[in-house]
Amino acid sequence: MTLAGEARSTTRGPLDDAIEQLAEVCQILGYDEGTEQLLAAPRREVTVSIPLRRDDGSVEVLTGHRVQHNLSRGPAKGGLRFSPHVDLDEVRALAMWMTWKCALMDLPYGGAKGGVTIDPSRYSSAELERVTRRYTSEILPLIGPTRDIPAPDIGTDENTMAWMMDTYSVANGHTVLGAVTGKPVSLGGSHGRATATSLGVVHVALEALRHLRLDPVGSTAAVQGFGKVGRGAARYLAENGVQVLATSDEHGAVWQPDGLDISALETHVDRAGTVAGFSGGTVIDNDTLLALDVDLLVPAAVEGVLHAGNAGAVRAQLVVEGANGPTTTEADRILQERGVLVVPDILANAGGVVVSYFEWVQANQAYWWSQAEVEARLTERMTDAWQHVLTEADERRLQLRAAATCLAVRRVAEAHRQRGLYP
Ligand code: NAD
Repeated sequence: MTLAGEARSTTRGPLDDAIEQLAEVCQILGYDEGTEQLLAAPRREVTVSIPLRRDDGSVEVLTGHRVQHNLSRGPAKGGLRFSPHVDLDEVRALAMWMTWKCALMDLPYGGAKGGVTIDPSRYSSAELERVTRRYTSEILPLIGPTRDIPAPDIGTDENTMAWMMDTYSVANGHTVLGAVTGKPVSLGGSHGRATATSLGVVHVALEALRHLRLDPVGSTAAVQGFGKVGRGAARYLAENGVQVLATSDEHGAVWQPDGLDISALETHVDRAGTVAGFSGGTVIDNDTLLALDVDLLVPAAVEGVLHAGNAGAVRAQLVVEGANGPTTTEADRILQERGVLVVPDILANAGGVVVSYFEWVQANQAYWWSQAEVEARLTERMTDAWQHVLTEADERRLQLRAAATCLAVRRVAEAHRQRGLYP
């Protein structure tokens, strides 16, 4: 199906995958076409121009988007991405996946996503602050602690969230800590938020390895991406005895057949800004990393990296999706035929939004929890969600993605049914 009345990109992308996943699940659940349309259609979309005065005095106009996919279970929740690849269809897909992720984790949120088409590495911090503040001002009527709560994603971080919170607060005349999550801990952020996505990925990866009767200690992994998600995932996997043989970023990949020294690699990345040039490993390319002979593959970079052209070469028994949408629909089919277990993004990387929810709860109550409390609650949520998805998959004889999406879509459809249609 297509989204009613919306201009769509002509090249295949993540939105096609998101719509196909929903269609498959609506068929499994026996939903009619109207219900499928209701679940597919974004509730609100806004595209804004962001005029930016560069440090040299010149003016540039950037484009940003915010898509609120579904609001039936509560305010919208979703990250803000700064990347040259951002387009409206990508933001739509990411917003839809946020709806399912929040519902799967039983958080009182709908799904949203934001993006600005910009390569942040080409702009100074002062320029990025101006972009963030102007973007926030442009979407101001849509956001807020009871409407839509942004968080960091690719190319954004806790500084971006501090600027967003400040801009929102200044416009409202008082400090509103619950307006965004992923803020610095000194400014109403939650302990454990920065590491939550990676920790959640590793909780689920360890459960999945055991499910496949593989002892995590001594098993092997490759992690694509060494940013906020991939770097922590590599560190926690290594801390749990998993040998991380390879990792990568957009500048290159490194491989060490006896296992990378992750703490030495982190020191190198802090200095060099990239994994490239790390002396403790051999240079390989990103495609080779995806096809390494390892037990576990964690794509933690961008969407669509596992596709029809390379899924047949994956040798891992287990793929745990740290990134959103790293596996295309065709690749999913190929991996399924080859018996590779894929733990879907909406489950595997949900730790971030779970602790964002904890941050929002703490900010709204102005009552702060310890790191240990946050991590204990996160572990419980991740383990429970893994068990629920596994049970759903067993009972309905489904792959994990379809099972997780079924659970989530059912909850969202039920909220629509209970609320009714207005008028
Ligand atoms: P980030 O910007 O901190 O890191 C992205 C990493 O991927 C960087 O190391 C970058 O160099 C690398 N990369 C980009 N393109 C690549 C390519 N083609 N090949 C190899 N490496 C490449 O972003 P992040 O926050 O770590 O997000 C990564 C993924 O995880 C995204 O899909 C994001 O939506 C998802 N995610 C993030 C969070 C979060 O809390 N940050 C939560 C859930 C999901």
